[in-house]
Formats: sequence, structure tokens, C-alpha cells
Amino acid sequence: MKILTVSDRVVESIYSVSIKQQFGDVDLVLACGDLPPYYLEFIVTMLGVPLLYVFGNHDQGVFTFNGKFKHAPEGCINVDERIVKVKGLLIGGLEGSMLYSGQGDHQYTEWDMIWKALRMAPALWWNRLRYGRFLDILITHAPPYRIHDGVDRCHTGFKTFLRMMDIYHPRYLIHGHVHVYSPHTIIRTTYGRTQVVNTYGYQIINWRDVKSGDG
Ligand SMILES: [Zn+2]
Repeated sequence: MKILTVSDRVVESIYSVSIKQQFGDVDLVLACGDLPPYYLEFIVTMLGVPLLYVFGNHDQGVFTFNGKFKHAPEGCINVDERIVKVKGLLIGGLEGSMLYSGQGDHQYTEWDMIWKALRMAPALWWNRLRYGRFLDILITHAPPYRIHDGVDRCHTGFKTFLRMMDIYHPRYLIHGHVHVYSPHTIIRTTYGRTQVVNTYGYQIINWRDVKSGDG
């Protein structure tokens, strides 16, 4: 299975009439925040596959060309504090960034994030009973604490995400929020049994290749 992951930046080769040529074999799209609704709606319409997303700290909605205010992208699935089963994969999400300005809907303290994660616990344990695993992929906007994160308050990662990987062992934690300007920036890090991926712009996850250490 091929998974396209996106966040933070509208990528020209994706927001293009030739998207099908480059990404036509994608089975699933995961969006990790700070992207305009029109972009996600374009992707889901053109590729015709499920698109799961969480909001970032800059997702405050937009006005459409006919003057309507739009907050959520249509045809896409918000997985904040939820776990959904799509194409055999258990995928959960936690939106937002560390609280830094007090303005905007998607900023949280570490304590807020602990509570958000706790609200997912019953569903995670139910999955463990039913499927033998808690979840396969956790998508977030912010990174985990001290993995790909920054030192300023806005870009500091959440310790809660570390604890979630310790307890629930998702195969992937995919996040955005941290902009990548250099090809030398580390964007994939292994933490325990989880591969942490910064998907700034876009990344491709080859799900089947994971067992051989690829992808
Ligand atoms: Zn952000």
C-alpha cells in the first residue's frame, strides 16, 4: 500500500492537473495540518481515495470565492482524538501545536494534550482486544518532544506523543509543523518500534516495505 502524506506547504506537483501521473497509485492520503481546505479537497477529488487529516495551528479557515467561510475540507475525515479503520489500517490523530500565543483554535498545553490522548485510550484498548494492536499510524501536527522539534515554544514537541509511542507502539507517527529548508535536515527518526516522519511538503510511505526496514 502506498500512502501520500502532506502538511504545511502546497506542493506544486500535487496541486497540478498532472497529479494523477505522479500520485495515481496512492491508496490513502494523510494530512498533518496547516494546509488550506481547497488543497485537500483537490487531492481527495483528483485521487479518489480516503483522506484523513488533523488541523494545525494555522488552520483557522478561509473565505471561498463566493464569500462563504469554510473551516473544514469537504470529503475528508478529521481524525482528531479518534481512530478510524481505513483499508485495514488503524489510524488515529491529535491536532494542533504547543500553546504559544493564545490566539487560534488549535493550540494546547502539555496537560491539554495528555487529556486529548486519554480520551483516545478506550478506543485504543478496544482495538488491542479486537485486532491485537492499538493503532498502526498516529498523525499529529506537532512533533514529539525532542524529535525533529524546535527550541521555541511554538515548535516544541509534546512529551505526550513519546508516551503514546511507548505504550501503543504505532508503526508510524507522522507530523508536520516543523518547516524543512535544508536537504540535510533529519526528517525520519526511529523511536522504539515507531518511525517518526516529518512530512513537511510531502512524503511517500510504502506500507508493505516496512517489515524489511524500507519505506
Ligand atoms: Zn504549525
